[in-house]
Amino acid sequence: MTTTEITCDSCDAACCRLQVILVDDNRVPETMTEQSSWGGEVMLRRDDGWCTALDRTTMLCTIYDDRPQICRDFEMGSVECINERDASFSLL
Ligand code: SF4
Ligand code: SF4
Repeated sequence: MTTTEITCDSCDAACCRLQVILVDDNRVPETMTEQSSWGGEVMLRRDDGWCTALDRTTMLCTIYDDRPQICRDFEMGSVECINERDASFSLL
């Protein structure tokens, strides 16, 4: 797959299974956060591995306008994005 074919529309939110570290992300609902094993504040992930803010039906972020900075900075088509997509597809 080329990078021009990579869009979030053809992806089951692979990057939303990564640990999302919160840094001064005051607009994220507290109920969607937890303390990590190393002591930092992160987005809560459910047993299926995805972030709790992800709508499991639409696979869209339910707090998109208030999403953490790390999510805003994660670039579609970047090396990190491609790696997460590849890792996700290899699980199928
Ligand atoms: S940024 Fe990349 S990994 Fe994340 S949902 Fe979009 S295509 Fe998938
Ligand atoms: S906050 Fe939204 S964009 Fe960020 S990981 Fe969770 S569901 Fe994905």
